[in-house]
Amino acid sequence: MASFQAPKGTFDVLPEQEAARAAVLAYTERVVGLAGYGRIETPMFEDTALFARGVGEATDIVRKEMFTFEDGGGRSITLRPEGTAPVCRAYLEHGMHRLAQPVKLWYAGSFFRYERPQEGRYRQFNQIGAEAIGSGSPLLDAEVVILLDGILRGLGIDRLKLKLSSLGSTAARMAYRDELREYLRAHESDLSEEVRARIDLNPMRAFDSDHERTRGVMAGAPTLLERLEGEDAEHFAEVRALLDAAGVAYELDPTLVRGLDYYNRTLFEFDCDRLGAQSGVGGGGRYDGLIEMLGGPATPAIGWAAGIERILLAMEAPQPQGSVEAFIVSAEQRERAFALVLELRAAGIGADLDLAGRSFKGQMKQADRSGARAAVILEADGTAKLRDMGSGEQREVDPARIVDEIRAAS
Ligand code: AMP
Repeated sequence: MASFQAPKGTFDVLPEQEAARAAVLAYTERVVGLAGYGRIETPMFEDTALFARGVGEATDIVRKEMFTFEDGGGRSITLRPEGTAPVCRAYLEHGMHRLAQPVKLWYAGSFFRYERPQEGRYRQFNQIGAEAIGSGSPLLDAEVVILLDGILRGLGIDRLKLKLSSLGSTAARMAYRDELREYLRAHESDLSEEVRARIDLNPMRAFDSDHERTRGVMAGAPTLLERLEGEDAEHFAEVRALLDAAGVAYELDPTLVRGLDYYNRTLFEFDCDRLGAQSGVGGGGRYDGLIEMLGGPATPAIGWAAGIERILLAMEAPQPQGSVEAFIVSAEQRERAFALVLELRAAGIGADLDLAGRSFKGQMKQADRSGARAAVILEADGTAKLRDMGSGEQREVDPARIVDEIRAAS
């Protein structure tokens, strides 16, 4: 039993688990790269005020889930709980509003939320995300949805459901919120205590409740989607038509609620029913007011984030991969074996040797376990043999030409 364990809600990523993660990143980079997105990295922590303002004081994330602390200089610092506000901060800080718009950015990294841990929900987790800032065109809404759809399907995730909604403009949303508050107050006695306590602060979250009677009340509640009008309705109709034309299936979900305050207009989420209670793989939406809220010029934008751990859970079990191509076995000449390993690596061929003082037989076993496709056996008399670990076939090779032989065999 180890004396120390990884903190609650965190996990180690072991070498055999890294290949699948690297594959998710490489595939994401390829898909978003084809659409002109460049990678951005922002710090793991930011001023607390960025999230308080950017994510919203009324959200669960800001109220309960942030890892916030004071640094040595007395500043309030928060480990980033999400990526959109930091990317928008960077967009402004680096004057990206002066570049040709939209500016298309993607990111990958760790995020932190103090949540109740369970499978698929951690306190430190990883996301891939994309943000397209500086265009209000419905084409961009369709583009970002299609990109995430393509990434998830391309990674082999099936049983996906795309839920789509629109929140309309901020003004429409405010008017709707007032209407919803009135409706909730009229049914107050049937609502859960938690929902009742948040009628003023965040009435939309009532749609998220799993309290039986609250759900009954919400089934009859007015929805924002029914209240869309004018340009908001036109925008949403165009986004839907573009998704239809691209063959991306979706379900309209007027009760879709996401835990961040900055969204307007298009809102979407991908669920996978391979996952248990935590079925959300990724999602996002338009946030046309956020940049202005952070002190910049009025700038329309849209983006999404998807959880890498959820993606991995939703994918078929990834294949473990052998890490080296060649394993060098030698009776006595460790220096010669080591020199050969270095020569192979310099030639771009993964190679390893015994580092635990194993017997000849033990080394052969280790060669097998290493997953290498070939073993090179250096004999005491200076000769060498090449063994195909798959077939067990073995033949003598010229000791001076081992690198070429392995390259030819792979
Ligand atoms: P959000 O930033 O809340 O919209 O989350 C986007 C995606 O990140 C979700 O769909 C999940 O896949 C993933 N995610 C969010 N919170 C967690 C968490 N605590 N643990 C693991 N994955 C998470």
